[in-house]
Parts: sequence; C-alpha cells; structure tokens
Amino acid sequence: MAFRKLGVNEALAKAIEDLKFEAPTEIQEKSIPLVIEGKDVIAGSKTGSGKTLAFAAGIMQKVVPGQGVQALVMTPTRELAEQVAKNISTFSKYQPMNVVIVYGGVSINPQIDSIPDADIVVGTPGRLLDHLERGTLKLNKIRILVLDEADRMLDMGFIEDVERIIRECPQDRQTLLYSATIPPDIEQLTKKYMQTPIKVSAGTQVDPSQLTQVYYTVPDNQKFSLLVHLLKQERGGLVMVFANSRRTVDFIENNLRKNGIEAEAMHGGLSQAKRSKTLDKFHDGKTYALICTDVAARGLDIPGVTHVYNYDIPKESKQYIHRIGRTARVDNQGKAINLLGQRDFENFDRVHRDYRLNIEKLELPVVERVRVEPYARDEGFGDRRGGQGDRRGGFGGGRGRDDRSRGDRPRGSFGGDRGGQRGSFRPSEPRQSSGESHSTPQQGGHRPPRFGSA
Ligand code: ADP
Ligand code: MG
Repeated sequence: MAFRKLGVNEALAKAIEDLKFEAPTEIQEKSIPLVIEGKDVIAGSKTGSGKTLAFAAGIMQKVVPGQGVQALVMTPTRELAEQVAKNISTFSKYQPMNVVIVYGGVSINPQIDSIPDADIVVGTPGRLLDHLERGTLKLNKIRILVLDEADRMLDMGFIEDVERIIRECPQDRQTLLYSATIPPDIEQLTKKYMQTPIKVSAGTQVDPSQLTQVYYTVPDNQKFSLLVHLLKQERGGLVMVFANSRRTVDFIENNLRKNGIEAEAMHGGLSQAKRSKTLDKFHDGKTYALICTDVAARGLDIPGVTHVYNYDIPKESKQYIHRIGRTARVDNQGKAINLLGQRDFENFDRVHRDYRLNIEKLELPVVERVRVEPYARDEGFGDRRGGQGDRRGGFGGGRGRDDRSRGDRPRGSFGGDRGGQRGSFRPSEPRQSSGESHSTPQQGGHRPPRFGSA
C-alpha cells in the first residue's frame, strides 16, 4: 500500500484502507515522509488536497495516549476545528486518542471538563488563549504543533493570538504549517517559530481537468432569475452559492425558498448551533443549496458538491480560488458558475489577471423571470443606496468592513474577553471577517424592486 511506503504507522495505514483512499495526494506524498521524520514542514496546496491526513500522520506518530495534551492543532474557524477533529478521530480508529475541540461561542465549562483527558486539542486561537489564561489548558507537553489554514488565520487577524499560543509550547516541539497559500506574513511567522523548516508545495491551485469554469454576463435585474434557472437546469449533486455579504446571502436564501428550492444560509451572523445544524443537513444531502459568505465556507470539506455559484465575484481574487475549491474535491468533477452583473467585472478581471484561469463565457439563456422579495430591512440601508454602489457592495459601506482594518480583532490583550462574562455572540472569534458585511446590499443601488421581477 502506497501510504505505508510514506512511513505512516500501521494503525493509520489500516484506517486509510478502511477509507478506501487509493493513493496519496501529491501533498501527502511530498510532506508525510518529512513529517514522520520529525521535521518542521511548511506545506502549501490547494484546499481539498488532503492536508489533514498529512499532518494527522505526524500527530499519530508522536502522540502516546494518556500522557497529556501532546498535540495542538490551531484552525481559523469553529467549523474547521470540528472537521479536523472528526478527521483525526477517523484516522486514529485503530489507535484511539482523545481529541478535544475548543472554540468560542459555546460554553467553556464542558471544554474545561474534558481537557484533562485530552491527548490532542483542536481549537481556534481566541478560545485557546482563554483556556491558557485560566490555566485550564497547559501546553508544556506539546510535542507537535499544527497551524492549519494558516493563511486564513492571519487574514482573520489572529496573528498575535497565534504567536502567543506558540510561545506557550515547548521549544523542542515539531511545528507543521499547512495552508492553501503561503503569503509573506506567513514566512515571517515561520522564521520566528520554526526550526529549519522544509517547504513543500503541490500542484496548481486549480486542476483544470477536474473543474469546469464558466461565466454569464447578466443584467442585474435578471441575476436572481438566472440563478433559479440554472439551479433547476443544472441538476447535479449539492450546490454552494457564494455571495459577498450576509444580506445578499439572506436575500438569496429567502427567495430561493419562495421559488421552491431547498436552500439554507450560512454566514457569520448566525449562531453556532444554527450553523452546525445547517452544515449537518447539507452534509446529509437534505439541503440542495448552501448559500454562504466566504468566511462561513472557508476550508469546509463537503463531499458531493458538484456546483459552485458565484452570485457575485469576490473582491479578492484568492477568495475566488477558495470558493471554487469547494467543488472538484479529491477525484471528483465540479463546475464553477459565475454570474456577472454590472458590478462584478472589476473583480472578475482581477481574478483573471491574478490566476490566468480559463473561464469560458456562455450565452445568456432565455430565463423565466421570477418574483423576488427585496432585501430584509436594516438600519443604514436606505442612505447607502447607490452612494457607494460602484465600489463592491459588501465593501463599500463607508466604514472599514474588512476586519483587518477594524478594531474588533479577535483579542485585544491576554486578559481581554473572558469566556464567562462575555456576550453570547461568538466572543472569541472576529465579529466580521473579510468578505462579510451585513449592512450593505450586494446590488448597491440596484435593489430588486419590492415584489417586482428580478
Ligand atoms: P484540505 O485540508 O487540503 O482542504 P482535506 O484534508 O479536508 O483537504 O481533505 C479533503 C477530502 O479528501 C477529505 O474528504 C478527505 O477525506 C479526502 N482525502 C484525503 N486524502 C485522500 C486520498 N489520498 N484519496 C482520496 N481522498 C482523500
Ligand atoms: Mg484543511
């Protein structure tokens, strides 16, 4: 078996056999031997390329059950923490280890109770710091530290938190950094905290043989109708529809349902419980279309997604790459469909320029106009109409919407927001992250008319 040749231990090899993975992915092939050797590794490869298994191989090599928290995995979001923990549990089926998940927005007490028995902790930076501060988590036995989706962690403004956590770990640990992209600020981090790291990367960001990319140019007032048309026409597996703002996500969800399409919204404004439930339903195939912002969907691995729609094109071209990475996961075919309204061209051009992707233009089909209800009301909406319309909807709200420029970074100081006394709103996570806004409509001045056609 090809995985054994990479040096994975017997327990993991057996678990992989059960999963029927035929061959290692490129990043697994390149990084697992180094990880097993105990090297510090910086690994870059696109989402969906099997990075979790690669670092899990190292964790399984190092961790001896029952001897305290020996492995720590940091992830940018709660969903990812859940997903990584689930994966590690699957991989360690024949070498059972206690994996404890730690993130904010939920009660801290159950976490406090379960940490003493943990072999592995997977968590988001804010809540991890909380535990360190309370003394409910000790990192002095850490033998292997993993930064997963490191680029995103930095994007979300977690750098200081991440550094603080790293400094709590013993120096003679192994450090692994897995990421879709390796931007310069990550290099800084690696210089400071990794020991003669070896860098490996795999493949291109997008595999054109597996992923078809197309776009339509469509008048703004027909965009939603086109989406409905395509969702009905292009039946495949599951579908993800991306929009740049929470408002647009809610708008799409609401109107798809009114048009008889099973849809659920997924964005940072929803409670953790709601998000988990939505994800489970989507995983189980009970929801056909998941409508989401970038933040909510980042890194999620949902098998069976055959179509990704960009209801609007993200401002940052790397977000485009992350979005389309939700489909055509390992060994599957997928299709990315872009709906370009008037305001999307600038962003679309940027994507083309940055990644030179081959995205085919399709003729606009004849679409039946469907009725839509307007965006939900919220304060500040009216006076923004049109004003910033030519900048991207979700970003033009006048205030810095991108959390890197905002004050509400995850943590101010070590003693910042203590779990118990914080509000109930995801206290240890950034309130809003790049790409999400809930106060500016995506269509700027072109708000769909009340019950008109759009
Ligand atoms: P990444 O972290 O790179 O985004 P994941 O680790 O989430 O990717 O893996 C994506 C999916 O691919 C998961 O469902 C995982 O179980 C599956 N997978 C991982 N390695 C393999 C492999 N060698 N062959 C087939 N599927 C794999
Ligand atoms: Mg991953």
